[in-house]
Amino acid sequence: MPTDIEIARSAKKRPMSELADALQIDAADIIPYGHDKAKIAPGHLSSLKAKSDGKLILVTAINPTPAGEGKTTTSVGLTDAMNRIGERTLLCLREPSLGPCFGMKGGATGGGQAQVVPMEDINLHFTGDFHAITSAHNLLAAMIDNHVHWGGDSGLEPTRITWRRVMDMNDRNLRNVVTGLGGSPNGTPMETGFDITVASEIMAILCLARDAHDLQERLERMVIGYRRGRIPVTAKDMKAVGAMMALLKDAMLPNLVQTLEGNPALVHGGPFANIAHGCSSVIATKAALKMADYVITEAGFGADLGAEKFFNIKCRQAGLMPSAAVLVATVRALKMHGGISKEDAGTVSYDALERGLANLGRHIENLKQFNVPVVVAINRFTSDTSREIAAIEAYCAERGVQVSICTHWAEGGHGAEDLARKVTRIASDTPIDFQPLYPSDMPLFEKIETVAKRIYRASHVDAPASVHKQLERWEQDGYGNFPVCMAKTPYSFSSDAKLVGAPEGHALQLREVRLSAGAGFVVGICGDLVTMPGLPRRPAAEDMHLDHLGLIQNLS
Ligand code: ADP
Ligand code: MG
Repeated sequence: MPTDIEIARSAKKRPMSELADALQIDAADIIPYGHDKAKIAPGHLSSLKAKSDGKLILVTAINPTPAGEGKTTTSVGLTDAMNRIGERTLLCLREPSLGPCFGMKGGATGGGQAQVVPMEDINLHFTGDFHAITSAHNLLAAMIDNHVHWGGDSGLEPTRITWRRVMDMNDRNLRNVVTGLGGSPNGTPMETGFDITVASEIMAILCLARDAHDLQERLERMVIGYRRGRIPVTAKDMKAVGAMMALLKDAMLPNLVQTLEGNPALVHGGPFANIAHGCSSVIATKAALKMADYVITEAGFGADLGAEKFFNIKCRQAGLMPSAAVLVATVRALKMHGGISKEDAGTVSYDALERGLANLGRHIENLKQFNVPVVVAINRFTSDTSREIAAIEAYCAERGVQVSICTHWAEGGHGAEDLARKVTRIASDTPIDFQPLYPSDMPLFEKIETVAKRIYRASHVDAPASVHKQLERWEQDGYGNFPVCMAKTPYSFSSDAKLVGAPEGHALQLREVRLSAGAGFVVGICGDLVTMPGLPRRPAAEDMHLDHLGLIQNLS
């Protein structure tokens, strides 16, 4: 069995000019990055305005387990399948972060016969977008410290600076650091720390901005600390945004690559799915909707976090109207939701499967609350038995939900043609009636409660008085219309990672709230939050090398 990287490397890639032709992009509007990657020029993006929009399809999943669900793999397989059945379909994915590539999870370009290529490049440095975001973020950090050093007049209190630094690496030693040691010529000693680049507010902003103008305004609004009386100081006050825009000039342009079957894909932006919204860029999604009849896109984690944020944050802010959602599940993950361990997920247990199906059922009900029709996609592993598959089919049939058994991982787009037909049918037959879960003018705490009760099925939200006070303060400051962005464990509907399946009646522990004024949301933090991951005991990086032919080995 060839590995993902071997399959990706043997792909017969179409020249970029052919992909551009297929999307009706003028050659002059394709900015090549080597032979198999390109950015789309701003001229083309603005020329699309008058065109009508295609249909938007979200790929989401049950709560993730260590057994893996395959949202990216299914997004790619579905895109190839849609094109196979004659529907002009464009894929929009997130850019992978280096941290997980070298840590545990691996890259994010799909798997088996359903991948985007060039796999190595997309997973590693790609077109430099993460570098640009890292640089813009750290430029602001340097300018803030410099402002303090020269006694700037903003009134910013050094102990109230909230802007940290970022790096695209899993490096736990950088979580908390003291800078400015060595006496006055070397700056003012300050406690700070590093987050991973995907956790930068600039990443979230780049992915939510509609255009350069919106990007600039959002960067200007970012709160970097406070002056006396807890009055916010912004990036605009630091006079940093012009230079940051210069650094982000190309990063805001979507990246064009292709699937293994030669269909175009836009891979652009990759915000964290906990303190941010976990979706690829609005600029890419909107452009894709103008260039294709169907756009397939993925949101991070399970539907309780990813789809909820896709709908309540991304679709709301960008005015997007999704036509359908594909809910990915695997037999192995459902068995884990039924209480069996990862080690035993390969063994047959109908009891565990039956119990685990409650997790799928909960997500189906939840997606319906947004008035978005659902198709369940069973991402088939070769070890799945037909009786296990039949049990899932029966469960969906009882609930009147369409289900499709997909084998794109093993067979490519051909293996997801049934899914493609079901998705096109449901998206064409159902009038678009998408609705966010709560109105923008609902008070912030009530928004958090709404998500907790209706999506997580919590009985109530436990929050300290300081959180309530902070939320009221932000409402007075004019941030009350923001949606909320929940940061909780992806593994459970509750804030306890071990509560698999479909728990209800639990208390949601809301520990802290943060403001992302530029991204335009209030983050609700439930439980421990890591914004700079560490490497595991045995990181994937230990196995990687460059072979005698100069090829990367063991990148997964
Ligand atoms: P997600 O986007 O949900 O995080 P991915 O699509 O990235 O998941 O898949 C995670 C991993 O699981 C990848 O390494 C992929 O190759 C593997 N995988 C996905 N689907 C299958 C399958 N049907 N059989 C075997 N491995 C799979
Ligand atoms: Mg993914």
